[in-house]
Amino acid sequence: MAYDADNIFAKILRGEIPAVKVFEDDNTLAFMDVMPQAPGHLLVIPKTAAENLFDLPDPAAAAVMSTVRRLAPAVRQGMQADGIRIMQLNGAAAGQTVFHYHVHILPCYDGRPAREHAADMEDIGVLGQHAALIRAALSD
Ligand code: 5GP
Repeated sequence: MAYDADNIFAKILRGEIPAVKVFEDDNTLAFMDVMPQAPGHLLVIPKTAAENLFDLPDPAAAAVMSTVRRLAPAVRQGMQADGIRIMQLNGAAAGQTVFHYHVHILPCYDGRPAREHAADMEDIGVLGQHAALIRAALSD
């Protein structure tokens, strides 16, 4: 399947639709998942047009992982998570629903199983509060 430049994350990158952004550098963008599986569920994407792992250039992969490594501790601290799951799906058969490469940073909480994938929309104000907690931890 060819990369579709009208996928939702490409539109977020172009500023055509809003997102609750947490971090941005030259090569990556991190923003809150609108249907979080747990409070603090964050997505990291490259600014490179790639559908998934199979067409992702090495430099973009490195840039995304560098941002994930920077943000995961901030998510853990800011959201007071007991653990962090790093998740990345490739192809519809694997559960991928948005076809611009992305890595999920999913906080895990003891005794609270993650909610269903891409199921329930969160209130934008709540996403903003969680983003602020993560940003604060990032600047500590
Ligand atoms: P995938 O299934 O492709 O691994 O994950 C896509 C993720 O994007 C899902 O967790 C879903 O909740 C999230 N998502 C879908 N549409 C939007 C959107 O418009 N904005 C944001 N911020 N997240 C989205």
